[in-house]
Amino acid sequence: MMAAAAPPLAARLLAGDRRALAQAITLAESTALVAALLPQTGGAVRIGISGPPGVGKSTLIERFGLHLVAAGHRIAVLAVDPSSRVSGGSILGDKTRMAELAARGEAFIRPSPAGTTLGGVARRTREALLLCEAAGFDIVVVETVGVGQSEAAVADMTDLLILLVQPGGGDDLQGIKRGIVELADLLVVTKADGDLAAAAGRAAADYRNALHQLHGAAGDGLWQPPVLQCSGLTGQGVPEIWGAIERFRAAAAASGRFARRRADQALAWLREELSQGLLDWLARDARLTARLAEAEAAVGAGSALPPAAARSLLVALRGG
Ligand code: GDP
Repeated sequence: MMAAAAPPLAARLLAGDRRALAQAITLAESTALVAALLPQTGGAVRIGISGPPGVGKSTLIERFGLHLVAAGHRIAVLAVDPSSRVSGGSILGDKTRMAELAARGEAFIRPSPAGTTLGGVARRTREALLLCEAAGFDIVVVETVGVGQSEAAVADMTDLLILLVQPGGGDDLQGIKRGIVELADLLVVTKADGDLAAAAGRAAADYRNALHQLHGAAGDGLWQPPVLQCSGLTGQGVPEIWGAIERFRAAAAASGRFARRRADQALAWLREELSQGLLDWLARDARLTARLAEAEAAVGAGSALPPAAARSLLVALRGG
């Protein structure tokens, strides 16, 4: 008797098979698979969550995920950590994080793809996000460590960005880059429990004031980023976070901003792929690689200006 052939990867993925999803994400030709599955994507709420190491991201995401699973949702958690290398050892790559959530069939947790550049990691994560949607996850969280450019990359692939901050400990507004606060659609003060509860309340009030100064009392007329408090340990405040996300989505959908943000993100992705494609093209052609090396040497030595060197390479790329 012949064993039945395993259904093709795409079919298993569409049926919500988590192993097929994991395989698809690591597949070298995942881009072709994503293209084939594109009509089945777009259906999830895409939530970015950022915060410095130790702020309580994994504790909160696990609690948040369990809350949503109990309400009938399926949640995928992806991570963007440009510091992760092929050898592992990344801040967010530890597989023991969120063990209880990971054990649930309705959840899918994926460490950051390895990569040497943020652009490379972001590209793989965008594809993974679409694959999660095709596999029927209706909530996708993209988590990042709030230490640099990665928040902007995550804001560029999600519907809203939640910034986590913790009470006291000098980790107040001065400690957080203004640019990051400006990106946030929702601010959450973590660890609002026990001894830290009072400090969390004060921190929330400070942030509320600061956000009013930053955005004005009415926000941008469509949305004033709220400041919430929660505890990942007790679960207090977690349903309110989901409530705020739903309010944000309703407001963004009504104003047309939701569709515009996704369209802008797709266009930005297209441009990034184009620039990357041109660079890859350059790297594949021996003649052009040699010219690039010459140009780099000349620019490095200060004997050529970068714009002029780039222009002559582009002319060469066109066959000139
Ligand atoms: P991450 O690095 O941002 O993912 O932070 P973790 O979730 O790993 O938490 C860092 C530390 O803060 C751990 O020691 C947690 O036990 C503690 N922690 C996380 N969430 C809470 C919370 O809601 N309340 C309190 N009191 N401690 C918390």
